[in-house]
Amino acid sequence: MGNRRPLRCDALVVSCIDFRLQAHLDAWLSSVLGYGTYDRVALAGGVKDREVVLAQVALAARLHGIRLVLLLNHEDCGAYGAEGTPDRHRDDLRAIQHRIQAELPDLAVVLGYMQLDGAFVHVPATEGTPAQSLAAVVRDVLRGPES
Ligand SMILES: [Zn+2]
Repeated sequence: MGNRRPLRCDALVVSCIDFRLQAHLDAWLSSVLGYGTYDRVALAGGVKDREVVLAQVALAARLHGIRLVLLLNHEDCGAYGAEGTPDRHRDDLRAIQHRIQAELPDLAVVLGYMQLDGAFVHVPATEGTPAQSLAAVVRDVLRGPES
């Protein structure tokens, strides 16, 4: 006791509970992040409940020293229902990104939108910024600025 190394992992991943996503999500996360390198939260609606997401992000940062928060909403989300347009998902993702960056400025936040066909679409943080490969954005963050 007392000499344990701090528990660390790279990232927290927040996604919806929707079972239709899980096979795509498991494969993508294992490929891009590596299995066993991230904390994971599943909440109906993904980031829809901002306060719940913020609390989980703060815990993962405190307990596991994460560097990256990956927030994934998805197409045809039942928790959003008819409100779940791509614009609404984009706006919600950007809103919580701003909150996280205000409260935990050391964390990188990456936004994504999953399609039911298994595509992972990057959601740029600001309007007018071109979308990139979501996997490339995540890998760039984890690689860090120095290498
Ligand atoms: Zn959903």
